[in-house]
Amino acid sequence: MAELTPEKDIILIESSEIGEGSSARNSGFLSPSAIEPRANAYGSAEDDANRKTRIVLAGLEWLRSVVEEHKIDCDWDEKAPRIVAAATRQGELRLLSSRQALEKKNLRYLEHDAQGLRSLLGTDYYQYGYETLTRAFVQPAALIRGLADTLPSNVTVLEHAAVEAVDGLGPFTVRTPRAEFVADKVFIVNNAHARALGLSIDRMVFIYTYGALTPELDNNELAKLGNLSEWGLLPPTPMGTTLRKWKRRFLIRSGHSYEREIDLEKVRATLTALYRRRFPGLHSYELEHVWGGGVAITSNGGNYFGELKPGLYVSVGCQGAGVLRGSIHGKLLAEMAYGSQSSLLADRLMLTGPSWIPPEPFRGIGATARMAWEHWQAGREY
Ligand SMILES: Cc1cc2nc3c(=O)[nH]c(=O)nc-3n(C[C@H](O)[C@H](O)[C@H](O)COP(=O)(O)OP(=O)(O)OC[C@H]3O[C@@H](n4cnc5c(N)ncnc54)[C@H](O)[C@@H]3O)c2cc1C
Repeated sequence: MAELTPEKDIILIESSEIGEGSSARNSGFLSPSAIEPRANAYGSAEDDANRKTRIVLAGLEWLRSVVEEHKIDCDWDEKAPRIVAAATRQGELRLLSSRQALEKKNLRYLEHDAQGLRSLLGTDYYQYGYETLTRAFVQPAALIRGLADTLPSNVTVLEHAAVEAVDGLGPFTVRTPRAEFVADKVFIVNNAHARALGLSIDRMVFIYTYGALTPELDNNELAKLGNLSEWGLLPPTPMGTTLRKWKRRFLIRSGHSYEREIDLEKVRATLTALYRRRFPGLHSYELEHVWGGGVAITSNGGNYFGELKPGLYVSVGCQGAGVLRGSIHGKLLAEMAYGSQSSLLADRLMLTGPSWIPPEPFRGIGATARMAWEHWQAGREY
């Protein structure tokens, strides 16, 4: 937006600090996958998948170009393998079907059997996997801080100022405890927190998930985590466990809770157990950092995108893999607000938004029941 309108003053209002939100506390996979493709008024499920894939791939290219242009030091890595691997027969079947989708889109991949995975990852926990050759990893906090540090000069960042309300019909009055701002255009991009603004953006729930990082490991321990210096592993199911060997450390992400964070000592115990059962021969399972973060989940995988009313724009609800999608959606939203027309924006406008979900207490009952079911189905993928 700042690039499209260099003459305008833009203020970015953050209730906490840049580098504290989920965008900074994720596992750093930039995954170019299409989420929950399905048929809609604009075409078949395959058309939907193709649109979603074009959007995330454009997100990858754009983010890469911004990182390169501004020399953002965020450990951008397109070489380390990104492996999707299954520990169960059911997971394997899911992977075989998602692999076919890659083939249809001409996205290249390499398959690995249990033995291959064992030498790459150092564990015999997984029985089948494939490695997508379009992939990237980042250190997410460094990425988000780097993006904020290199914003154009017409942008002012205001931290520790929670927006409490957006009033008016344009120009809008944006209220925070520190000051009020008047703007002819307002963009709401604050994850499922957007529900608190009373703007009918409420078809999503906050699901918290949890990550942990070991201390730096010695050469002996690192060798037990496979013969590659770095790799990332994603599960075939939403309730599965993500792993990453990264910069002499090991990262594990797993577990879910509805609308609030659970006690981090309980999380530490769970993540330690999941780590131990995948790598039973390690000397230590110490986790130096343990954290949680919220992701906005909708019932059909769709997210809010577009003009809510004249001058008021929204992009929220990025599900559990929102780094690329959130980034490119932000770019497309700014283009939309300033009248640009591109085939990518047309693609984005043809995606389905979030479907209706019932209010509390039915919402909570439904979400926790679905999580419990998916958790049970995940089995050893958890
Ligand atoms: C442990 C974990 C691992 C994950 N791993 C991955 C991964 O590997 N790859 C991937 O793509 N995704 C991953 N995700 C998901 C990803 O992090 C999210 O989809 C993404 O960060 C959402 O970005 P966002 O900008 O919408 O939300 P956020 O990053 O949450 O940003 C919203 C910001 O709005 C601010 N805010 C809230 N309310 C207000 C207000 N009223 N006024 C002003 N500011 C406000 C918040 O402080 C926050 O900084 C993971 C998430 C977690 C928690």
